[in-house]
Amino acid sequence: MLHTTTDRRIFLSSPHMSGKEMNFINEAFETNWVAPLGPNVDAFEMEVAGYIGMNGAVAVSSGTAAIHLALSLLDVQKGDTVFCSSLTFVASANPILYQGAEPIFIDSERDTWNMSPIALEEALEEAVAENKLPKAVIIVNLYGQSAKMHELVSICRKFHVPIIEDAAESLGAKYKGKPSGTFGEFGIFSFNGNKIITTSGGGMLVSNNTEALRQARFLATQARDPAPHYQHSKLGYNYRMSNILAGIGRSQLEVLDARINARRAIFNTYQQELAHISSISFMQELEDTFSTRWLTAITINKEETNVSPKELIAALEEENIEARPVWKPLQLQPLFNKNKYYPHAENESVSEELFQTGICLPSGSNLTVQEQLRVIECIKKTFNSL
Ligand SMILES: *Cc1c(COP(=O)(O)O)cnc(C)c1O
Repeated sequence: MLHTTTDRRIFLSSPHMSGKEMNFINEAFETNWVAPLGPNVDAFEMEVAGYIGMNGAVAVSSGTAAIHLALSLLDVQKGDTVFCSSLTFVASANPILYQGAEPIFIDSERDTWNMSPIALEEALEEAVAENKLPKAVIIVNLYGQSAKMHELVSICRKFHVPIIEDAAESLGAKYKGKPSGTFGEFGIFSFNGNKIITTSGGGMLVSNNTEALRQARFLATQARDPAPHYQHSKLGYNYRMSNILAGIGRSQLEVLDARINARRAIFNTYQQELAHISSISFMQELEDTFSTRWLTAITINKEETNVSPKELIAALEEENIEARPVWKPLQLQPLFNKNKYYPHAENESVSEELFQTGICLPSGSNLTVQEQLRVIECIKKTFNSL
């Protein structure tokens, strides 16, 4: 089948509205709750906390803001260090810089593409020896797949270092039955436009520590002391989510499970249809874990084919299909080129290898069967195996 560039563009992951968002928005307008406060905000927080079974949540303007608040609540300051997954979006680490602290990057392991327990333990042992333990460890669940939480949590416990779980891509995922976002002192979610559910932009901080969440609300509303004359004794931020956007979030949360099922079905179709191309491997779902499959991620084994990831991305682009390399590891970013990095093993940098070989395929829950077939045909054609 021949395609022309007049075919509608297929995006990696585009917003997928349920159609009921306007009900919540209209209600906010009718009651004039057009503010970074209001009944939708309270309800959205309770509903997200209820969904993952945590004590509470604070709705904020972005996932990045949620990470920043978590660092601030853990008293991360200038001169401190914070460990962070290396294979992730820059937003996982930027808030460390906002606090004037120093990020140290921990490599991935092969099973989950997420933080390597071996590299983490080595980094913590070195830190103890230098009497400079990190103030926190930020653990990312990439593309909806949980990191090896049991190992990572027990290592962090051993060294008494708190965890911030960056679950921006994994709302609805589970690790051995436990919901993503609930493993650390704090968990964070993102409702950016490309995420599994969206408020156009937004985020959530979750925790079982209700006193910390109260403090988060205070910091996120300009740290205003209880006085009529606008008194401030601490540095605060303007980070709260608006009542209108929280309404969109409530409507999206109602369809979250359906969205996850749709993304998982898309993953399964790719896997079935491309199974005969032996140079393509799929990101695994570890036993007793449940991934949201936010994005379908594959790797291309260069020993088995002369199609490079770059060529595949270009071939897809030629047919008006958006595909991307996996996140560029943060230790390779010019912004972080002076920061320390702990690879999985000596001479074995898993995140850098995944960056060289990995591709994310269009995975939006609104991708039609026809559109996915277009993607699959193009991949088959590129690998010469129609
Ligand atoms: C999207 C994302 C964030 C940031 O969320 P925003 O809401 O865009 O600020 C943080 N970490 C990861 C891993 C993400 O994918």
